[in-house]
Amino acid sequence: MHDFTIEVHGCRQADYTGALSQPIYQSATFRHPGFQQSTGYDYSRCGNPTRDNLEETIAALEKGQKAWAFSSGMAAINTVFQLFKPGDHILLTEDLYGGTVRLGEIFAKYGIEFEYIDTTDLELVQRSLRPATRAIFIETPSNPMMLITDIKALAELAHSHAALLVVDNTFLTPHFQKPLTLGADIVVHSGTKYLCGHNDILSGFLIVGQSPCSQQLIEEIGLYAKSQGANLSAQDSWLMLRSLKTLGLRVEKQAANALQIAQWLKQQPEVTDVYYAGLPEHPGFQLNRQQASGSGAMISFKVRDSDLARSILGKVKLIAFAESLGGVESLITYPLYQTHECMPKYLLERTGLDDRLLRLSVGIEATEDLIADLQQAFR
Ligand SMILES: *Cc1c(COP(=O)(O)O)cnc(C)c1O
Repeated sequence: MHDFTIEVHGCRQADYTGALSQPIYQSATFRHPGFQQSTGYDYSRCGNPTRDNLEETIAALEKGQKAWAFSSGMAAINTVFQLFKPGDHILLTEDLYGGTVRLGEIFAKYGIEFEYIDTTDLELVQRSLRPATRAIFIETPSNPMMLITDIKALAELAHSHAALLVVDNTFLTPHFQKPLTLGADIVVHSGTKYLCGHNDILSGFLIVGQSPCSQQLIEEIGLYAKSQGANLSAQDSWLMLRSLKTLGLRVEKQAANALQIAQWLKQQPEVTDVYYAGLPEHPGFQLNRQQASGSGAMISFKVRDSDLARSILGKVKLIAFAESLGGVESLITYPLYQTHECMPKYLLERTGLDDRLLRLSVGIEATEDLIADLQQAFR
Protein backbone atom coordinates (compact mmCIF):
# COMPACT_ATOMS: atom_id res chain seq x y z
CA MET A 1 0.00 0.00 0.00
CA HIS A 2 1.03 3.60 -0.57
CA ASP A 3 2.18 5.70 2.39
CA PHE A 4 -0.86 7.98 2.19
CA THR A 5 -3.13 4.96 2.69
CA ILE A 6 -1.15 3.47 5.58
CA GLU A 7 -1.07 6.90 7.23
CA VAL A 8 -4.86 7.22 7.14
CA HIS A 9 -5.87 3.67 7.96
CA GLY A 10 -3.11 2.47 10.26
CA CYS A 11 -2.70 -1.26 10.58
CA ARG A 12 -5.63 -2.54 12.56
CA GLN A 13 -9.10 -3.51 11.49
CA ALA A 14 -11.69 -1.43 13.31
CA ASP A 15 -12.89 -3.12 16.50
CA TYR A 16 -16.21 -4.95 16.91
CA THR A 17 -18.19 -1.72 17.41
CA GLY A 18 -17.15 -0.48 14.00
CA ALA A 19 -15.48 2.62 15.47
CA LEU A 20 -13.38 4.32 12.80
CA SER A 21 -11.30 6.10 15.39
CA GLN A 22 -9.25 3.52 17.25
CA PRO A 23 -10.37 3.04 20.87
CA ILE A 24 -8.05 4.35 23.58
CA TYR A 25 -7.32 1.44 25.90
CA GLN A 26 -6.89 3.51 29.03
CA SER A 27 -6.12 0.51 31.21
CA ALA A 28 -2.97 -0.18 33.21
CA THR A 29 -3.77 -3.87 33.57
CA PHE A 30 -5.80 -6.59 31.86
CA ARG A 31 -7.93 -9.39 33.34
CA HIS A 32 -6.80 -12.96 32.63
CA PRO A 33 -9.54 -15.41 31.61
CA GLY A 34 -8.01 -18.13 33.84
CA PHE A 35 -4.79 -19.69 35.08
CA GLN A 36 -2.14 -19.55 32.34
CA GLN A 37 -4.64 -17.95 29.98
CA SER A 38 -4.18 -14.52 28.43
CA THR A 39 -5.87 -12.17 25.98
CA GLY A 40 -2.37 -11.27 24.83
CA TYR A 41 -2.26 -8.31 27.22
CA ASP A 42 -1.13 -8.32 30.87
CA TYR A 43 0.10 -4.88 31.84
CA SER A 44 0.41 -1.68 29.77
CA ARG A 45 4.15 -1.21 30.23
CA CYS A 46 4.63 -4.52 28.40
CA GLY A 47 1.88 -4.03 25.83
CA ASN A 48 -1.17 -1.87 25.21
CA PRO A 49 -3.56 -2.31 22.26
CA THR A 50 -3.58 1.41 21.33
CA ARG A 51 0.22 1.58 21.44
CA ASP A 52 0.53 -1.72 19.54
CA ASN A 53 -1.65 -0.29 16.80
CA LEU A 54 0.59 2.77 16.56
CA GLU A 55 3.78 0.68 16.58
CA GLU A 56 2.49 -1.50 13.75
CA THR A 57 1.57 1.58 11.73
CA ILE A 58 5.01 3.13 12.16
CA ALA A 59 6.71 -0.17 11.33
CA ALA A 60 4.64 -0.37 8.12
CA LEU A 61 5.56 3.20 7.13
CA GLU A 62 9.29 2.59 7.68
CA LYS A 63 9.08 -0.85 6.00
CA GLY A 64 10.36 -2.34 9.23
CA GLN A 65 9.66 -5.55 11.02
CA LYS A 66 9.02 -4.13 14.47
CA ALA A 67 8.63 -0.71 16.09
CA TRP A 68 8.52 0.55 19.67
CA ALA A 69 6.88 3.79 20.79
CA PHE A 70 8.64 5.70 23.58
CA SER A 71 7.73 8.70 25.68
CA SER A 72 10.27 10.90 23.83
CA GLY A 73 12.92 10.81 21.15
CA MET A 74 15.59 10.86 23.84
CA ALA A 75 14.04 7.80 25.53
CA ALA A 76 14.33 6.01 22.18
CA ILE A 77 17.98 7.06 21.69
CA ASN A 78 18.74 6.10 25.29
CA THR A 79 17.54 2.58 24.47
CA VAL A 80 19.83 2.45 21.41
CA PHE A 81 22.84 3.49 23.50
CA GLN A 82 22.01 0.73 26.02
CA LEU A 83 22.76 -1.84 23.32
CA PHE A 84 26.48 -1.11 23.80
CA LYS A 85 28.93 -2.09 26.49
CA PRO A 86 32.12 -0.71 28.02
CA GLY A 87 34.92 -0.53 25.46
CA ASP A 88 32.57 -0.10 22.50
CA HIS A 89 33.19 2.75 20.09
CA ILE A 90 30.44 4.63 18.24
CA LEU A 91 30.91 6.98 15.30
CA LEU A 92 28.34 9.75 14.96
CA THR A 93 27.53 12.53 12.53
CA GLU A 94 29.32 15.55 14.02
CA ASP A 95 26.46 17.86 13.11
CA LEU A 96 23.53 16.36 14.97
CA TYR A 97 20.85 17.01 17.56
CA GLY A 98 22.50 18.54 20.63
CA GLY A 99 20.55 16.31 23.04
CA THR A 100 22.12 13.22 21.47
CA VAL A 101 25.59 14.62 22.19
CA ARG A 102 24.57 15.38 25.79
CA LEU A 103 23.24 11.82 26.25
CA GLY A 104 26.52 10.49 24.83
CA GLU A 105 28.35 12.38 27.57
CA ILE A 106 26.31 10.47 30.16
CA PHE A 107 27.01 7.12 28.50
CA ALA A 108 30.74 7.93 28.32
CA LYS A 109 30.66 7.40 32.08
CA TYR A 110 29.99 3.70 31.38
CA GLY A 111 33.06 3.40 29.16
CA ILE A 112 31.40 3.79 25.76
CA GLU A 113 33.36 6.03 23.42
CA PHE A 114 31.54 8.49 21.17
CA GLU A 115 33.44 9.99 18.24
CA TYR A 116 31.93 12.71 16.07
CA ILE A 117 33.00 12.95 12.45
CA ASP A 118 31.84 14.31 9.12
CA THR A 119 29.86 11.28 7.91
CA THR A 120 29.41 12.80 4.44
CA ASP A 121 33.12 11.97 3.92
CA LEU A 122 33.17 8.22 3.19
CA GLU A 123 36.96 7.96 3.31
CA LEU A 124 37.01 9.58 6.72
CA VAL A 125 34.34 7.16 7.94
CA GLN A 126 36.36 4.22 6.63
CA ARG A 127 39.55 5.48 8.32
CA SER A 128 37.71 6.08 11.58
CA LEU A 129 36.29 2.55 11.90
CA ARG A 130 38.12 0.51 14.54
CA PRO A 131 37.83 -3.09 15.71
CA ALA A 132 35.84 -1.75 18.69
CA THR A 133 33.39 0.22 16.51
CA ARG A 134 29.94 -1.22 17.13
CA ALA A 135 27.77 1.42 15.44
CA ILE A 136 27.56 4.41 13.16
CA PHE A 137 24.82 6.85 14.16
CA ILE A 138 23.79 9.41 11.56
CA GLU A 139 21.34 12.17 10.80
CA THR A 140 20.66 13.03 7.16
CA PRO A 141 19.89 15.85 6.57
CA SER A 142 22.07 16.76 9.54
CA ASN A 143 21.07 19.23 12.19
CA PRO A 144 21.39 22.18 11.72
CA MET A 145 23.75 22.31 8.71
CA MET A 146 21.57 20.06 6.49
CA LEU A 147 24.43 17.90 5.21
CA ILE A 148 23.49 14.73 3.36
CA THR A 149 25.10 11.40 4.29
CA ASP A 150 25.00 8.38 1.95
CA ILE A 151 22.88 5.85 3.87
CA LYS A 152 23.58 2.88 1.57
CA ALA A 153 27.34 3.41 1.56
CA LEU A 154 27.44 3.79 5.32
CA ALA A 155 25.36 0.64 5.82
CA GLU A 156 27.93 -1.27 3.77
CA LEU A 157 30.85 0.24 5.67
CA ALA A 158 29.22 -0.48 9.02
CA HIS A 159 28.36 -4.06 8.12
CA SER A 160 31.88 -4.77 6.82
CA HIS A 161 33.00 -4.02 10.41
CA ALA A 162 30.16 -5.92 12.11
CA ALA A 163 28.78 -2.58 13.28
CA LEU A 164 25.19 -1.32 13.17
CA LEU A 165 23.96 1.62 11.14
CA VAL A 166 21.49 3.73 13.12
CA VAL A 167 19.66 6.56 11.33
CA ASP A 168 17.82 9.35 13.11
CA ASN A 169 15.09 9.94 10.50
CA THR A 170 13.29 12.74 12.35
CA PHE A 171 13.87 15.43 9.71
CA LEU A 172 12.54 13.58 6.66
CA THR A 173 10.06 11.09 8.20
CA PRO A 174 9.26 7.79 6.47
CA HIS A 175 7.07 9.74 4.07
CA PHE A 176 10.25 11.02 2.37
CA GLN A 177 12.99 8.59 3.42
CA LYS A 178 13.04 4.92 4.48
CA PRO A 179 16.55 4.14 5.75
CA LEU A 180 15.78 0.47 6.51
CA THR A 181 15.26 -0.16 2.79
CA LEU A 182 18.76 1.29 2.18
CA GLY A 183 20.44 -1.08 4.64
CA ALA A 184 20.14 0.68 8.01
CA ASP A 185 19.63 -1.60 11.02
CA ILE A 186 17.74 0.77 13.30
CA VAL A 187 15.71 3.91 12.60
CA VAL A 188 15.22 6.46 15.37
CA HIS A 189 12.57 9.17 15.54
CA SER A 190 11.67 12.04 17.67
CA GLY A 191 7.95 11.63 17.05
CA THR A 192 7.50 14.97 18.78
CA LYS A 193 8.36 16.66 15.49
CA TYR A 194 6.81 15.87 12.07
CA LEU A 195 5.12 12.60 13.03
CA CYS A 196 3.09 14.43 15.66
CA GLY A 197 3.08 17.69 13.70
CA HIS A 198 0.95 19.70 16.11
CA ASN A 199 3.40 20.52 18.91
CA ASP A 200 1.20 18.80 21.48
CA ILE A 201 2.93 15.58 22.53
CA LEU A 202 6.44 14.26 23.09
CA SER A 203 7.20 10.83 21.67
CA GLY A 204 9.93 8.71 20.15
CA PHE A 205 10.26 5.56 18.06
CA LEU A 206 12.72 2.82 17.24
CA ILE A 207 12.16 0.66 14.18
CA VAL A 208 14.11 -2.45 13.19
CA GLY A 209 14.15 -3.85 9.65
CA GLN A 210 15.13 -7.14 8.06
CA SER A 211 18.92 -7.03 8.43
CA PRO A 212 20.77 -10.18 9.61
CA CYS A 213 21.00 -8.92 13.19
CA SER A 214 17.36 -7.84 13.42
CA GLN A 215 16.14 -10.88 15.38
CA GLN A 216 18.68 -10.19 18.11
CA LEU A 217 17.87 -6.49 18.07
CA ILE A 218 14.16 -7.19 18.41
CA GLU A 219 14.77 -9.33 21.49
CA GLU A 220 17.17 -6.89 23.11
CA ILE A 221 15.22 -3.70 22.40
CA GLY A 222 11.97 -5.42 23.43
CA LEU A 223 13.53 -6.38 26.75
CA TYR A 224 14.88 -2.87 27.41
CA ALA A 225 11.65 -1.17 26.35
CA LYS A 226 9.50 -3.15 28.75
CA SER A 227 12.07 -3.07 31.55
CA GLN A 228 12.77 0.68 31.44
CA GLY A 229 9.17 1.76 31.23
CA ALA A 230 9.61 4.82 29.01
CA ASN A 231 6.74 3.62 26.80
CA LEU A 232 4.24 5.95 25.15
CA SER A 233 0.91 6.23 27.00
CA ALA A 234 -2.37 5.10 25.44
CA GLN A 235 -3.68 8.67 25.16
CA ASP A 236 -0.54 9.91 23.45
CA SER A 237 -0.48 6.83 21.20
CA TRP A 238 -3.97 7.71 20.05
CA LEU A 239 -3.03 11.36 19.43
CA MET A 240 -0.09 10.12 17.38
CA LEU A 241 -2.30 7.78 15.32
CA ARG A 242 -4.56 10.74 14.64
CA SER A 243 -1.60 12.91 13.66
CA LEU A 244 -0.27 10.29 11.27
CA LYS A 245 -3.48 10.42 9.23
CA THR A 246 -2.36 13.77 7.79
CA LEU A 247 1.42 13.15 7.78
CA GLY A 248 1.72 13.09 3.98
CA LEU A 249 -0.48 16.13 3.44
CA ARG A 250 1.41 18.10 6.05
CA VAL A 251 4.98 17.26 5.07
CA GLU A 252 4.39 17.71 1.35
CA LYS A 253 2.88 21.15 1.89
CA GLN A 254 5.66 22.01 4.35
CA ALA A 255 8.33 20.94 1.85
CA ALA A 256 6.70 22.95 -0.96
CA ASN A 257 6.64 26.01 1.31
CA ALA A 258 10.25 25.41 2.33
CA LEU A 259 11.53 25.31 -1.24
CA GLN A 260 9.89 28.66 -2.02
CA ILE A 261 11.21 30.23 1.16
CA ALA A 262 14.74 28.88 0.56
CA GLN A 263 14.69 30.42 -2.93
CA TRP A 264 13.49 33.71 -1.50
CA LEU A 265 16.14 33.67 1.26
CA LYS A 266 18.88 33.24 -1.35
CA GLN A 267 17.95 36.55 -2.91
CA GLN A 268 18.00 38.59 0.29
CA PRO A 269 20.98 40.92 0.79
CA GLU A 270 20.88 40.24 4.55
CA VAL A 271 21.38 36.49 4.01
CA THR A 272 24.91 35.18 3.35
CA ASP A 273 24.23 31.40 3.22
CA VAL A 274 21.20 29.15 2.80
CA TYR A 275 21.33 25.47 3.78
CA TYR A 276 18.50 23.41 2.27
CA ALA A 277 18.98 20.11 0.44
CA GLY A 278 16.16 20.94 -1.98
CA LEU A 279 18.21 23.69 -3.65
CA PRO A 280 20.06 22.32 -6.72
CA GLU A 281 23.30 24.06 -5.66
CA HIS A 282 23.31 22.25 -2.29
CA PRO A 283 26.25 19.78 -2.26
CA GLY A 284 23.97 16.95 -1.17
CA PHE A 285 21.14 17.70 -3.62
CA GLN A 286 21.76 14.72 -5.94
CA LEU A 287 22.43 12.22 -3.17
CA ASN A 288 19.32 13.28 -1.28
CA ARG A 289 17.31 12.85 -4.47
CA GLN A 290 18.62 9.32 -4.85
CA GLN A 291 17.88 8.17 -1.34
CA ALA A 292 14.82 10.24 -0.43
CA SER A 293 11.67 11.37 -2.19
CA GLY A 294 11.71 14.87 -0.69
CA SER A 295 13.94 17.41 1.01
CA GLY A 296 11.79 18.14 4.04
CA ALA A 297 11.03 21.56 5.47
CA MET A 298 14.01 22.45 7.63
CA ILE A 299 16.09 25.39 6.40
CA SER A 300 19.12 26.91 8.08
CA PHE A 301 20.54 30.24 6.99
CA LYS A 302 23.17 32.73 8.07
CA VAL A 303 22.59 36.45 8.17
CA ARG A 304 25.16 39.25 7.94
CA ASP A 305 25.90 39.49 11.66
CA SER A 306 24.75 38.22 15.02
CA ASP A 307 22.98 41.50 15.92
CA LEU A 308 20.72 41.04 12.92
CA ALA A 309 20.11 37.38 13.84
CA ARG A 310 19.01 38.42 17.33
CA SER A 311 16.86 41.27 16.12
CA ILE A 312 15.03 38.92 13.69
CA LEU A 313 14.13 36.66 16.63
CA GLY A 314 12.48 39.59 18.38
CA LYS A 315 10.67 40.87 15.30
CA VAL A 316 8.99 37.78 13.83
CA LYS A 317 5.24 37.90 14.49
CA LEU A 318 3.64 34.95 12.69
CA ILE A 319 6.67 32.68 12.94
CA ALA A 320 7.26 31.73 16.58
CA PHE A 321 10.73 32.04 18.10
CA ALA A 322 10.72 28.65 19.81
CA GLU A 323 12.62 25.41 20.17
CA SER A 324 11.45 22.27 18.31
CA LEU A 325 10.40 21.71 14.72
CA GLY A 326 8.10 19.82 12.40
CA GLY A 327 4.74 21.23 13.46
CA VAL A 328 2.09 22.86 11.28
CA GLU A 329 3.12 26.21 12.79
CA SER A 330 6.39 27.72 11.52
CA LEU A 331 9.11 28.13 14.14
CA ILE A 332 12.45 29.87 14.13
CA THR A 333 15.29 28.66 16.33
CA TYR A 334 18.68 30.05 17.31
CA PRO A 335 20.67 26.76 17.41
CA LEU A 336 23.75 28.12 19.20
CA TYR A 337 21.66 29.19 22.20
CA GLN A 338 18.87 26.59 22.03
CA THR A 339 19.06 23.12 20.46
CA HIS A 340 22.88 23.03 20.32
CA GLU A 341 23.66 24.99 23.45
CA CYS A 342 25.44 22.00 25.04
CA MET A 343 27.52 21.22 21.93
CA PRO A 344 31.30 21.18 22.62
CA LYS A 345 33.14 24.16 21.14
CA TYR A 346 35.35 22.08 18.82
CA LEU A 347 32.25 20.62 17.14
CA LEU A 348 30.67 24.05 16.70
CA GLU A 349 33.85 25.29 15.04
CA ARG A 350 34.12 22.26 12.76
CA THR A 351 30.52 22.41 11.59
CA GLY A 352 30.36 26.19 11.25
CA LEU A 353 27.46 26.54 13.66
CA ASP A 354 27.82 30.13 14.83
CA ASP A 355 25.89 33.12 16.16
CA ARG A 356 24.79 34.15 12.65
CA LEU A 357 22.91 30.91 12.05
CA LEU A 358 19.13 30.67 12.29
CA ARG A 359 17.05 27.55 11.71
CA LEU A 360 13.58 27.68 10.27
CA SER A 361 11.01 24.91 10.63
CA VAL A 362 8.51 25.69 7.90
CA GLY A 363 4.84 25.02 8.68
CA ILE A 364 1.75 24.77 6.50
CA GLU A 365 0.75 28.46 6.52
CA ALA A 366 0.47 30.36 3.22
CA THR A 367 3.98 30.88 1.83
CA GLU A 368 3.29 34.57 1.12
CA ASP A 369 2.47 35.25 4.76
CA LEU A 370 5.63 33.51 5.96
CA ILE A 371 7.79 35.44 3.50
CA ALA A 372 6.08 38.72 4.45
CA ASP A 373 6.83 38.00 8.12
CA LEU A 374 10.50 37.29 7.42
CA GLN A 375 10.70 40.36 5.21
CA GLN A 376 9.42 42.71 7.92
CA ALA A 377 11.72 41.04 10.48
CA PHE A 378 14.79 41.49 8.25
CA ARG A 379 14.29 45.23 7.70
C1 LIG B 1 14.05 16.62 18.95
C2 LIG B 1 15.00 15.65 18.41
C3 LIG B 1 15.42 14.56 19.18
C4 LIG B 1 14.96 14.36 20.61
O1 LIG B 1 13.60 14.04 20.67
P1 LIG B 1 12.63 14.45 21.90
O2 LIG B 1 11.32 13.96 21.42
O3 LIG B 1 12.73 15.94 22.06
O4 LIG B 1 13.13 13.72 23.10
C5 LIG B 1 16.28 13.66 18.59
N1 LIG B 1 16.70 13.80 17.32
C6 LIG B 1 16.33 14.85 16.56
C7 LIG B 1 16.82 14.97 15.15
C8 LIG B 1 15.46 15.80 17.07
O5 LIG B 1 15.09 16.84 16.32
